[in-house]
Amino acid sequence: MNIRGKLSVTFILLLIFGVTAVSSYSILFIRAFLLDEGVRQMQDDGRWMIQTIQYLPGGTQFPGRLDQVGQAIRYHLVIYDETGMQLKASPAEPPGMYTGMLPDSLIRELTATENEVIMVNEKETDFIYAFAHLPRSVNEAHYLQISQAKDEIFKPIATIRWIIYTGMFISIGLIVIVSTLFARYLSRPIVTLNKAARRIAEGDVNYKINLRRKDEFGALSDSLNQMASRLREDNAQLQQINEKQRLFLADIAHEVRNPLHTIMGSLEMLEMNELNPDKRKKYLANAASHADRLSRLFSDLMTLQRYSSDENFIREKVFDLSGITRKMDEWYREEADNKGVDLSVDKQSLFVEADPGKIEQVLENLISNALKFTAEGHVHLRYEEEKDNVVVKVTDTGTGIPHQHLPRLFDRFYRMDKARSRDRGGTGLGLAIVKSILDAHGREVHVESREGHGSEFSFRLKKAPPPPA
Ligand code: ADP
Repeated sequence: MNIRGKLSVTFILLLIFGVTAVSSYSILFIRAFLLDEGVRQMQDDGRWMIQTIQYLPGGTQFPGRLDQVGQAIRYHLVIYDETGMQLKASPAEPPGMYTGMLPDSLIRELTATENEVIMVNEKETDFIYAFAHLPRSVNEAHYLQISQAKDEIFKPIATIRWIIYTGMFISIGLIVIVSTLFARYLSRPIVTLNKAARRIAEGDVNYKINLRRKDEFGALSDSLNQMASRLREDNAQLQQINEKQRLFLADIAHEVRNPLHTIMGSLEMLEMNELNPDKRKKYLANAASHADRLSRLFSDLMTLQRYSSDENFIREKVFDLSGITRKMDEWYREEADNKGVDLSVDKQSLFVEADPGKIEQVLENLISNALKFTAEGHVHLRYEEEKDNVVVKVTDTGTGIPHQHLPRLFDRFYRMDKARSRDRGGTGLGLAIVKSILDAHGREVHVESREGHGSEFSFRLKKAPPPPA
């Protein structure tokens, strides 16, 4: 049975039980009340009868007068003489047990009273009796009995019972209708929420619950809506990650395939016996250079992988930036001179708070790119204070980058000119590594470039006071 059915049945049973109990109790209560009232009324009437009967004229008139009284009242009337013997009854044959002779015990009890009415109301008998002593009687009557059938007293009960039962059945009808409607009202949010939870569990995260209620059900529906929206966002994010992962794998496969083909081609050539020593040297160098590129590719990939899986890969400390820039000058001086490019590097002492090893890698990538894409002119590495920061800039007068490439420049394997960049030994991961390192420092990398004029890559580091000597 569903929740709506259960609630309906519970309400109906509870209310029917309540109504039936109240009705039955009312009938019992009314019966007892009517009986008490009947007894009290008989007692009052008995007192009145004492006064009436004992002053009736005696002799021959007495039976006729007694009949008149008997007809005027709604009780059975019996008169006894002083010995307790029945003298007359009105109507002639009164029902019940006290006919003929009064019991001695009752006579004794009655003679001890004056103007008092003794009531006899036994549970198992169908009548109520009232007895009285007539000590001042001016006629032959000495004791008086009036009686009444209990059924007479209970007569109104039939009507009352009919009224109560009719009311009860009407109530039960109303209860069934109201309980069903109320159960439906109460269970509607549960049914709605249950349906929604099932839909969401089945993956329908776009499902929205419209339950405008301010109670706990309303709060639950808000929570479910929030949960669905969170799932929706997570789903979208997962799809994006999946897509990125897929593209990333495709890129890696692509990047690996080319050098592998070249190496295999070179090896095949080297297998030929009639190859002259110069050519042999050339194929060996070719294979070695591509193997080297493969090795750099995997090393860059490993670096990126480590950075993205370890949130704490940055270990910041205070250091002098000039320590790193001097190294750059040393490492790249020869390459710049060979190309005829003017390499100029700032070397003034300035302290920053960052991970020195990682910043070294950032500068290495930026300067090697600048030299790679600059045929003439200069490559500058400059840094200066700017409020709480130190701005570091690598500028060149190289090929420049068309503005349409700028938004995706820091994506993995993004190259403007894939073939030429590979020829220059690039893995397509250098700027992605730069970005991931600066991201981890909470810093941004900016690029400004004009095609044919050169580029400027810049970022800020947190300035730090020089450590005590
Ligand atoms: P790569 O290994 O190909 O150099 P990067 O991620 O370092 O990979 O650079 C991505 C691309 O950005 C390069 O292929 C090049 O097209 C462009 N690029 C990077 N730096 C410069 C620069 N200083 N001048 C011109 N183009 C650049």
